Amino acid sequence: MNPEVSASDIAVLRAQLGREPRGLVAIAARCACGNPTVVKTSPRLPDGTPFPTLYYLTHPGAVGAVSTLEAVGTMREMQARLGEDPALAAAYRAAHERYLEERVAIEDVPEISGISAGGMPDRVKCLHVLVGHALAAGPGVNPLGDEALALIAESWRPDRCTCAAIEE
Ligand SMILES: [Zn+2]
Repeated sequence: MNPEVSASDIAVLRAQLGREPRGLVAIAARCACGNPTVVKTSPRLPDGTPFPTLYYLTHPGAVGAVSTLEAVGTMREMQARLGEDPALAAAYRAAHERYLEERVAIEDVPEISGISAGGMPDRVKCLHVLVGHALAAGPGVNPLGDEALALIAESWRPDRCTCAAIEE
């Protein structure tokens, strides 16, 4: 495992997820306070199961805010725009390709070859995946992840710690 993953990271992840983190490779993004917000997960879990979601959103505040966004029909609207806006569609496809490249760099798992996550490259099926990617990669890589992150900024954002409020 990556030496930058500490015992306290593991403890925070256990509390965030309500279980042991599986296949943990690295902490891909952190809250302003240092707590993990996104984990980088091995494309093959220790029990052998292929796992396509390279960047997994763990922060309960972020997960909850994104779930609310999914519930109001944001994905349908984004999906429709992918069909109408070639520049957006191309940027989304590039995000998909980058996701796959970064995953293959860890391990090439044939069962999920060419399959990324979240509906990429031409569908929008899970905003948690897209936000996880946007947080891990930084702005300008996953356009719909960036948009979703902007849309939840009033309730959750990575530069404003709400970890204590969530633990209570
Ligand atoms: Zn925090």
